[in-house]
Amino acid sequence: MYIVFLGAPGVGKGTQCRRTSEKYALPHVSTGDIIRAAISANTPLGQEFTRYVDSGELVPDQMVVEMVAERLREDDCGGGCLLDGFPRTVAQAEALEQSFAAQGRRLAGVIEIAASEDELRRRLIERGEKEGRSDDTPETIAARLHVYQSETAPLIEFYRQRKLLHQVDGIGTPDEVFARISATIDGFAADAPVSD
Ligand code: AMP
Repeated sequence: MYIVFLGAPGVGKGTQCRRTSEKYALPHVSTGDIIRAAISANTPLGQEFTRYVDSGELVPDQMVVEMVAERLREDDCGGGCLLDGFPRTVAQAEALEQSFAAQGRRLAGVIEIAASEDELRRRLIERGEKEGRSDDTPETIAARLHVYQSETAPLIEFYRQRKLLHQVDGIGTPDEVFARISATIDGFAADAPVSD
């Protein structure tokens, strides 16, 4: 089962994906984590990523699309995975759609975790204080929320048109949100063709 998680920075996608990954035994593919790992390893690609991540901008589509394609070719993703933070632009969503069509893979659904912008800003500032992520500073947070609205929010409509969108309320305790996500995924499993 392939599932895309969509949602603004700070909505709790990472936490919820980790729990979903454990419960449903699906690999968690987070482009943010892959990018941060390349940056910490100081690879040539990582050095290029730094300026985008630190300014809250998106890494160019082509680089991310190739990175994800490579990750999806690994054996553990053969039966499904959770995509966290990808796609983030319509161009990335189209690239994913084309590669899935070519490989005979099918998206089971897209889960959008939703919260208000005030709540997101509050959570991001709190995470910046706790975890010290270099891109959780007030200026970068504002830039990332803006990029989300302009580049990523159009994917909500993109997936709604394809009847893949499932919206989940992201307000509540992590347990409450996870219960909503689990109920949504159990619904996909019930709908899925037997061959899946
Ligand atoms: P995240 O942990 O998902 O919030 O990602 C952290 C940063 O990595 C983002 O602000 C972007 O700079 C970069 N990034 C992660 N995923 C993508 C993507 N799909 N496309 C472009 N940039 C990305």
